[in-house]
Amino acid sequence: MTRSDPLTLGQKLVALLEGGRRSATYKLAVLMALLELSVESVPDDPDDAVDIDLDELTARVIELYWRQMRPLDGHQLRQSNDGRGVIFTTVAGLRAELTRTHRTPTVDLVVAEGSDAYVAAHTTVKRTLVRYPLKLLQNVTTLTDSERFLYDDSWMGTDSMRVIADHGNKLQLFPGVCTTLARLAPLLKPAFQLAWVDDVRRMNKSLLAEGPDIADHLFGADRVSLLKAGDLLAREFGPQCFYCSTRLTATRHVDHVLPWSRVGIDGLANLVLACPSCNSNKSDLLPSPTHVDHALGRGQSVLDALAADINWPCQFDRVVSAAHGLYATQPDSTPIWLGRKDIGVLGRVDFEWHAR
Ligand SMILES: [Zn+2]
Repeated sequence: MTRSDPLTLGQKLVALLEGGRRSATYKLAVLMALLELSVESVPDDPDDAVDIDLDELTARVIELYWRQMRPLDGHQLRQSNDGRGVIFTTVAGLRAELTRTHRTPTVDLVVAEGSDAYVAAHTTVKRTLVRYPLKLLQNVTTLTDSERFLYDDSWMGTDSMRVIADHGNKLQLFPGVCTTLARLAPLLKPAFQLAWVDDVRRMNKSLLAEGPDIADHLFGADRVSLLKAGDLLAREFGPQCFYCSTRLTATRHVDHVLPWSRVGIDGLANLVLACPSCNSNKSDLLPSPTHVDHALGRGQSVLDALAADINWPCQFDRVVSAAHGLYATQPDSTPIWLGRKDIGVLGRVDFEWHAR
């Protein structure tokens, strides 16, 4: 049985989720980041080994915590049993510092500005990830077979920047693992999120006794902030539904073309206006590739400039790679959303974006 056999890999990841109580959510953050990056890095040959850049992985982990550190009813939720930990402290510190100068700082903006504070925080988080969660992730006590199943971690467990650089500042997913992770993503992502919600609930027992729904706080899209992007879209592309052209009056929804639940891309390149019926009918379904094509067809330079105007991320390239990965890894019978009340079945497509 190869390492990339979906059943074996899936079982090992589930064992990892169930392998005893976690004292912190680091491993879940790493798993979620790896899953996201796998979807966005699907190779042409499904059996290829794939490099994951450690800077990129670190940026994704920071992004995950950054969102989750929004106060919930005035409180910041703990992400470890004792509420401490280098990664949380670092990201919380960065957030506090930037909130002084930005009203609603987003990670992308902070990255784009290349602020010293971000660079320093990024380095700290990267060293901590390599030293602990990346080194420990594949230790599954309930498995008799201790073979590494995602990547070679033998050199990890250090926080030496020299050692990290000597290893190309990357981890390499074993042959076939990237494609398999991308294929399993629709099953694994909700499972990881559920485990994360359980952990945070347990780590914040006193605070969450009343039982507010924290899943949406931790993983939901930020509806309030999206309104800002909605105003811009209406102004620039007209107040109409992107999918059915209905003129939008009072109620307009900002829709994630590639569903938020699948890839979580909030950049302008992935946002359109939709009428309530298209929006609710489309829901979490994968849209027809044509819709993605049209959304990108608004033009990278146009979208970049608009996004910059309102201090919003654009994430054009990320939409392109995520679309490529999503469509390349769906089973043949996957339902796709063609239009309102029009659901088809995905044929074998390869999504390729060619700038025009
Ligand atoms: Zn519509």
